[in-house]
Amino acid sequence: MFEQLGLIGCGLMGGSFALALKRAGLVKRVVGYSKSPSTTARALQLGVIDVEAPSALLAVSGADLVLLAVPVAATETTLKAIRHLVNGDMLIMDVGSSKRDVVDAARRVLKQDVGVFVPCHPIAGREVSGVEHADAGLYAGKQVILTPIERTLTAKLEQANALWQALGCQVVNMSPESHDAAFAAVSHLPHLVAFALMNSIVNQPEGREYLSLAGPGFRDFSRIAASDPQMWRDVLIANREELGRQTELFQHALNDLQRLIANGQADDLERLINRASHARANWRLSSGAR
Ligand code: NAP
Repeated sequence: MFEQLGLIGCGLMGGSFALALKRAGLVKRVVGYSKSPSTTARALQLGVIDVEAPSALLAVSGADLVLLAVPVAATETTLKAIRHLVNGDMLIMDVGSSKRDVVDAARRVLKQDVGVFVPCHPIAGREVSGVEHADAGLYAGKQVILTPIERTLTAKLEQANALWQALGCQVVNMSPESHDAAFAAVSHLPHLVAFALMNSIVNQPEGREYLSLAGPGFRDFSRIAASDPQMWRDVLIANREELGRQTELFQHALNDLQRLIANGQADDLERLINRASHARANWRLSSGAR
C-alpha cells in the first residue's frame, strides 16, 4: 500500500493508472499535475486524483510512488522539475512507449539517484487520449515491459513488478535496447504504415469517396491511424534508428509483393501471402488474440 501517488500527466495512461491503483486499494491519496490546469481540474472532478498540484515538484512532494505519464519528449524536463525531491524511499516509474530515450534522460538528470527509477511500458492503451477516457480496467490482463538498467535497484524493480502484478498485469523484463527494437517492429512501424495509408488515400482527389465505401477490413487495419498525433510524433522520432531499420525491411517486403503482382507471378505471390497468413493465424493463438 502506497501513501501517496504523485501523478505527472493526468491523461489516458496516468488517469487509468490512478484509478486502477485506487480500485485495488493500493494507494491512500493521489496528487496530480498536468501541463494545463484545466486537465488537472478535470482529473479532480472525475475522481481520478484527490488533490491538484500546481507543479510537478509539488505533486511529488510527500509521494512514495511517482508516475510519469507524459509524452516521452517531456520526460527529461519533467525529471528535472522533480529531481530535488527524489529520494531513496520513492519508486518512480514511467509509461513511455519508447525506452532508450527515457533511460538516457533518467541517467542524465537523476545521476546517482537513477536506481529508484524503473522504466515501464504497459502494452495497453487506446487511440483516444485524455483523462475523460481514463479507465480503471485499462491495464488488467495486459503485458507491462520493465526495462531496468544496470543501476536500477533490485528492491525498486521488485516493487514495480509486484505493483503491476497486483493490477492484473503480466510483467516482462528486457533491456531498453531490446524493447525499442521489438516495438519498432510490432508497434511503431504499424502506426507509421497506418498514417501513410490514410494520407495516401485522402491525398487523392477521389479519396474521400473511396473511404465512404470501405468495410470492416479497412476499419481494422486503419484503427490506429486515429491515434494521438503529439504522442506518436514523439515516439516515432525517439525510436528513429530502430524504426528506420524496420521501415527499410517493410519497404523490401512491399516491393517484393509489388514486383510479383506486376509480373503476374501467381505461385510466388501466393507463397508470400501464405507465409503472412500462417504467421498471423499462429500469432498468440494461445492467448486468444484475433
Ligand atoms: P494523454 O492522454 O494525452 O495524456 C498525457 C498527459 O500528459 C496530458 O494530461 C498532458 O496534459 C500531460 N502533459 C503533457 N506534457 C506535459 C508536461 N510537460 N508536464 C506535465 N504534464 C504534461 O496521453 P497518454 O496516451 O496518456 O500518453 C502518455 C504516455 O503514455 C506517453 O508517453 C505514451 O507514449 C505512453 N503510452 C501511451 C499509450 C496509448 O495507447 N495511449 C500506450 C502505451 C504507452 P495536458 O492535458 O495539459 O496537455
